[in-house]
Amino acid sequence: MLPLPVLERVRADLPSLPGIGASALEVSHRGSWFEGVITETEANLRALLRIGDGHRVLFCQGGASMQFAMVPMNLLHGGAADHVVTGSWGARAVAEAARIGRTRVAWTNESESFVRTPLDEELLEALDPASDYVYLTMNETIQGVEYPGTPSVPNEVIVAADASSDFLSRPLDVARYGVLFAGAQKNAGPAGVTIAIVRDDVLERIPDGLPSMLDYRTYAEHGSLYNTPPVFAIYVVLLVTRWLRDEIGGLDAMAELDAAKAQLLYDAIDGHPEMYTGHAQPAARSRMNITFRLPSVDDETAFLAGAAAEDMVELRGHRSVGGIRASIYNAMPVEGVERLADFMRRFAAH
Ligand code: PMP
Repeated sequence: MLPLPVLERVRADLPSLPGIGASALEVSHRGSWFEGVITETEANLRALLRIGDGHRVLFCQGGASMQFAMVPMNLLHGGAADHVVTGSWGARAVAEAARIGRTRVAWTNESESFVRTPLDEELLEALDPASDYVYLTMNETIQGVEYPGTPSVPNEVIVAADASSDFLSRPLDVARYGVLFAGAQKNAGPAGVTIAIVRDDVLERIPDGLPSMLDYRTYAEHGSLYNTPPVFAIYVVLLVTRWLRDEIGGLDAMAELDAAKAQLLYDAIDGHPEMYTGHAQPAARSRMNITFRLPSVDDETAFLAGAAAEDMVELRGHRSVGGIRASIYNAMPVEGVERLADFMRRFAAH
């Protein structure tokens, strides 16, 4: 979901932006209107996430999936990448990085079907401090497994993190990340733009000879305007950042709301253990994607049909894992989550 006020603003201004006389779908990326948009979007992201001067905010394309290749291309320096694989997206990322250079799966929970993130001490023990960088997925969208806080990685090790599905849902210790990237289409806006936040020391060490569009420096040196950026997508990200700032009150407030929403569903799961089994272990439960199973596939089919009859849709788990998945991103109102929790209680009692 995108916030309704954002969609309404987009709709009102779609044929013609006030004072511009052209649509956001039409304007030049070199014009002053878009210059203002990209400048303010970056400023708002910096304010919301408290991004310091040591990091650059880059607007890329190619989705988070392209970052799976860009990260190793830019960060490997003849050594290896240490990957922590906590779900399907982390598995994709390590497979892609292996096409570029040396990788090592330092820690995974795959044999237990990805039900948790590593404990701090497990992570410290698993990582090789000599690796070129450590790669993590902040929230595994398919399994519903999320790090409860900043993963504990030795300070001298560069951290690259995929934050696609929990970006802008809570404050982050951005300084700790060498690269933090997120496809926009969960919490930040529509598909088409991928935000990469890259630390200066990482930029300085990028090997020469990369194709221009796969080199973070191209984006940093040209203010993400080396080629035509996804103008409309960035414009919607701007509106979402204003909504977060003005309507929600920033990321601390967003985090509180998101935690409360997720708790409603986890309470419904835990309150009916005869009907619902949460996928993630409690300490690694995602606040964005609540994943659970019912006793049988038939029960799950009946659950989905009952929910759909009450206009609650898109609850089927990812095709690769089955079960039920309630994705409750930032823009999902608490009332929507309350309705689902209420349905879950009624379904369990029927
Ligand atoms: N990483 C995570 C955590 C995701 O949730 C997704 C998409 N659902 C991706 C990567 C892939 O993103 P994209 O489709 O933008 O390439």
